[in-house]
Amino acid sequence: MAEKKVALFPGSFDPFTKGHEDIVLRGLQIFDEIVISIGYNSQKSNRYFPIDLMVEKIRGTFQNYPGIKVQTYAELTAEYAKRFNARYLLRGLRNTTDFEYENSISQINRKLNHQLESVFLITTPQFAWINSSIIREVHKYGGDVSDFLPYKLS
Ligand code: ADP
Repeated sequence: MAEKKVALFPGSFDPFTKGHEDIVLRGLQIFDEIVISIGYNSQKSNRYFPIDLMVEKIRGTFQNYPGIKVQTYAELTAEYAKRFNARYLLRGLRNTTDFEYENSISQINRKLNHQLESVFLITTPQFAWINSSIIREVHKYGGDVSDFLPYKLS
């Protein structure tokens, strides 16, 4: 039997948005299993949305998808992938800024873990402008962010 294709979808997901949901659902056409992996070891360690809340909301969003799992991790993504025996990293690309960042991070990840291949999906145009940091800003000042999220916050 062919090996199960497992991809990690690593990110801060602060918060997880409809743009992220779109990448995960499209990724499921390519991979047998996707592990949404909320990292909290990056520069963004001061989260706005608590990590436990995000785990709960993402699990709820994908409760009918047995191929989608949610985990948290606090180490280098390349090391975490090794431990998990995952060969693929799934990432989304919105624009050239994403490309510049993703390009260097994927080179570093492969240097640290030779068996790791990064796979990029281009955003769906209707979600291209959805950005976690803008959502945090709108939410902080009491704005309604429900249109950008695939779950209800309260
Ligand atoms: P990170 O802090 O690692 O950049 P994010 O949670 O901001 O994590 O994003 C995780 C991944 O999802 C990144 O590859 C990012 O480019 C991608 N992404 C974020 N928003 C969108 C969107 N609206 N459409 C497509 N991809 C997106």
